[in-house]
Amino acid sequence: MKKPICLVGIGKIAIDQHVPAIAASSDWTLAATVSRAGHVDGVPAYDDFDKLLAERQDIRVISLCLPPVPRFDYASRAIAAGRHVMLEKPPGATLAEIHALQAMAKTSGVSLFATWHSRMAKGVAAAKAFLADKVVTEGQINWKEDVRRWHPNQEWVFEPGGMGVFDPGINALSILTEILPAPVHLRSADLQFPENRQTPIAADLVFSGGVNATFDWLKQGEQLWEMTIRAGDVLVNLREGGNRCVINGVEVAGTELEEYPALYARMSDLVKDGGSDVDLAPMVHVADALTLGRRVIVAPFHF
Ligand code: NAP
Repeated sequence: MKKPICLVGIGKIAIDQHVPAIAASSDWTLAATVSRAGHVDGVPAYDDFDKLLAERQDIRVISLCLPPVPRFDYASRAIAAGRHVMLEKPPGATLAEIHALQAMAKTSGVSLFATWHSRMAKGVAAAKAFLADKVVTEGQINWKEDVRRWHPNQEWVFEPGGMGVFDPGINALSILTEILPAPVHLRSADLQFPENRQTPIAADLVFSGGVNATFDWLKQGEQLWEMTIRAGDVLVNLREGGNRCVINGVEVAGTELEEYPALYARMSDLVKDGGSDVDLAPMVHVADALTLGRRVIVAPFHF
């Protein structure tokens, strides 16, 4: 039988991905939304989260689609009310608040899932399996997109905690930290901050092990979400955000489910098994970049 779930924050990603993924799922039914302004047709809509938690004891799982800064407040209230929680990426505004949520979830005996949708891209599992017994000798990530096209008028991405170009860049780092057979660490970074903004619009990262990343949020024309990892004479190329895996020039078969259906299937398993899945490795790299990075001031940015 399908389990009732509640979506909180009915914005771009909720409408683009979460609502269709839940509608297509054999595990879940969208039983309520919580939103200050939005709603989903035919679904009971709340504008008060505490009211939802009090009135809808039938809903045991909450999926939070808010930006990272307000998310901790909602997640902590949900866990305190004994609900299982799914977090959009990045899981929060700081590492410490996710550690706090992990401790709360453990105490309350509920599942906490810090989702990384890009890890569910169809080519990622093949790349991971192929690299598992290899020694990586170099890698290059190119994550270049147009912020005006993908985040139209989303001012929060340029506010403190919005992470700027790391909002998409962390997707690349979530794949990197999933597929590498041994971890890397950041050695240096150049971050470009528009003079009127709080978060970077471009970043160049240099990691140990010969791995480099270039994130650019002003890319016009072709949008690029790709990485190439070399292990000796083997070349693993992930294209289209990890959805296509090409090994030594030959495309290999990917996983079946799309990213968000795969996340909801995983959440179902976690709840069933009483488990949690919280891996902060991608966010550690972002925190390190913001700690270690050389700051370059660039032209102001306006949507
Ligand atoms: P969004 O549309 O700007 O915001 C999502 C919703 O969050 C808003 O519609 C609003 O919902 C609620 N919200 C915003 N600020 C809030 C605040 N201060 N307090 C309470 N609620 C607030 O953002 P989004 O693009 O959906 O992104 C949300 C999360 O999904 C981010 O962490 C992002 O990294 C991730 N994500 C986004 C994309 C994408 O392509 N956009 C892709 C993958 C993942 P209500 O008006 O309903 O209250």
